[in-house]
Amino acid sequence: MFKKILIANRGDVALRVLRACQDMGIATVAVHSTADTDAMHVRLADESVCIGEAPSAQSYLNIPALISAATITGAEAIHPGVGFLSENADFAGVVEAHGLTFIGPRIEHIVSMGDKVEAKRTAAAAGLPLVPGSDGAIANLSEAQRVAKSTGYPVLIKAASGGGGRGMKVANSEDDLSEAFSSARSEAKAAFGDDTVYLERYLGNPRHIEIQVIADAHGNVAHLGERECSVQRRHQKLLEEAPSPVLTPDERAHIGGIAANATRSMGYLGLGTMEFLYENGEFFFIEMNTRLQVEHPITEAITGIDLVVEQIRIAAGLPLSFRQEDVHFNGHAIECRINAEHPTTFMPTPGKVSDFHAPGGPGVRVDSFLYSGYRIPSDYDSLIAKIIVHGDDRAHCLARLQRALDETIITPMPTSLDLHRLLAKDADIASGDYSIRWLEEKFLPNLEASQTADNSKS
Ligand code: ADP
Repeated sequence: MFKKILIANRGDVALRVLRACQDMGIATVAVHSTADTDAMHVRLADESVCIGEAPSAQSYLNIPALISAATITGAEAIHPGVGFLSENADFAGVVEAHGLTFIGPRIEHIVSMGDKVEAKRTAAAAGLPLVPGSDGAIANLSEAQRVAKSTGYPVLIKAASGGGGRGMKVANSEDDLSEAFSSARSEAKAAFGDDTVYLERYLGNPRHIEIQVIADAHGNVAHLGERECSVQRRHQKLLEEAPSPVLTPDERAHIGGIAANATRSMGYLGLGTMEFLYENGEFFFIEMNTRLQVEHPITEAITGIDLVVEQIRIAAGLPLSFRQEDVHFNGHAIECRINAEHPTTFMPTPGKVSDFHAPGGPGVRVDSFLYSGYRIPSDYDSLIAKIIVHGDDRAHCLARLQRALDETIITPMPTSLDLHRLLAKDADIASGDYSIRWLEEKFLPNLEASQTADNSKS
């Protein structure tokens, strides 16, 4: 086992990895920018190294500085966390070239899953069901017209190098196709420097359901069930739950088995997430994330398996500490992402936290780097806390969620805590009746309408 690991990240995920290392008796090296000198991950690590200025490009994305930090501290492995360099094949390559271990999958899988056209091809070959659409990239408008006609409208033009929902355009009919095709290409070129696009049928009202998979170097593969991540705004997840309120045990075993078989046939190593859209009882693969996910704690809550410990064990060449038949799903878990942003305008609200009080009690876990007096920098992602609750069943979990959110204090800035308090009491959430369009097309418009009505009364 490694004696010392460098954590190439910040925020809640840096703390998450640090805690796993401490549980395993592994020494930790934190890295930080000049904006993060007082950050919690720096305070709790055994050693820390300043790797550059506040902008990520000069610090958390600065590969030479990260490698130097690992070398001077004698770290043997690097955990990339989530975001930043976690899906950067060049970084993984440089880490390995310096005789260090990258705690993540094989480089070939980071590369193949990083290009969406290639990812779909790999997924199809591994037996995963795809959204109907083009077989690879679309070269010109007439090819797009031909494919769209056989797929059926509406269709979605997507960027091969896409991410964060950019470079995606919907065409409702052939009349819209030319405009959607050219604007998706130019947006993709501007955002990713690559104008390769492909085409998919646009699903009307799907849910986002993803399967957690894991594989070691000894041929052991398992799936850890699903996470339902349909509560989204601009393709960003806000609240996730496990299990999904709509899957039956048979459907779970079926899609889990398909995902585990695909993992095996790809020769995948480590932790991965296969994302699917789910509509009318059918699953359609959209992408695979070759890293730890922000929402991993809900899977940990219902399986009792520490995913970060497993990642580190796999990277060290050890076998999985469990087998598929040992995986049992216990109760229900929900995660709320608390962001330093206004609950309804979603404008970022960085600044100094005067008071922070985390909730507690049975079934509550908080992954956060906040403390009273901490200044949230404006340079990074707005995620400041994850509140994860676990209950015997979904109703019990929702009751605990309301309790946990009511106990939480973060002042003085507005945060998404208030939005989550409303979500936790919402009738559609209680019944599980929502899709990826629900928040933006129903919940937020209703909220705005009720606020306007309240304002006109007062
Ligand atoms: P990105 O990497 O940019 O996040 P994804 O392929 O994961 O791109 O898609 C992001 C989101 O866009 C999905 O979670 C879903 O909300 C929506 N989406 C993607 N593909 C389709 C599709 N074929 N039909 C309908 N919605 C889609």
